Amino acid sequence: MPMPGRKGTRNPPPRPTNGPAGAQPSIIRGPGFFHLPTNSRLDTNSPASPTGAVFLDRDGVLVEDVHFLTEPGQLKILPGVAEALRDLQDRFYLIVVTNQSGIARGLLTEDDLLEIHAELVSRLGSQGALLDGLYYCPHLPEASISAYKVECRCRKPGPGMLEQAAGDWGIDLSRSVMAGDMPRDIEAARAAGVKGIITGGSHTQQPGSLGAVRNLPEAVPLILSLAAGPQVDTGNETAVPNIVSPMQSSQSEVK
Ligand SMILES: [Mg+2]
Ligand SMILES: [Zn+2]
Repeated sequence: MPMPGRKGTRNPPPRPTNGPAGAQPSIIRGPGFFHLPTNSRLDTNSPASPTGAVFLDRDGVLVEDVHFLTEPGQLKILPGVAEALRDLQDRFYLIVVTNQSGIARGLLTEDDLLEIHAELVSRLGSQGALLDGLYYCPHLPEASISAYKVECRCRKPGPGMLEQAAGDWGIDLSRSVMAGDMPRDIEAARAAGVKGIITGGSHTQQPGSLGAVRNLPEAVPLILSLAAGPQVDTGNETAVPNIVSPMQSSQSEVK
């Protein structure tokens, strides 16, 4: 089943207005399975906007993986994540792409997920770190809730969420990176034409095209090396220099 919205067209949700100065960012529900923080830079079309994105798996990369996270109180942002995002956000849009089959399993609702993401965005925002958007896949082919019993393209390893983001916001996938802790994250990246980097987990023997590291903070220099060329859209030239070789898996052992 296709994702909502038309692939290849820009179909952005209305731009939210920012709250009063100093207010914590909040979040609104976008079309389809998308949450848009009020401090997002998507849809601004400023000439200095990044053209690529860092796509971020949520559980195990940004927050502790508690198997099924069903309420905001379970959110534990991993060490160094806010700083890593601050280091990346000048060069890339930061977009979460997360499988949330707990919704199809009846463990949480889409409203619950919105609350969880509002809390995540707010806590990161209080540390000066941005998330520009959060795509989620609520589906599962063997779901107990029939509305979500779908063979979809958005559930990773499918590339649907990355493609949707590119279509919605004009993101250049060839200048983008996916950071995830599972092989399915890297498969989704590869299928979308995005470079992948394994960050943690026990899968470092199967690194993505950018290699494998222990956590998101360790991925920052590798990801920034991709942005070593011109920061902004320079027209037709391809500016993706200095691809770093995958690190040796012996250097990336996970405890
Ligand atoms: Mg994960
Ligand atoms: Zn899906």
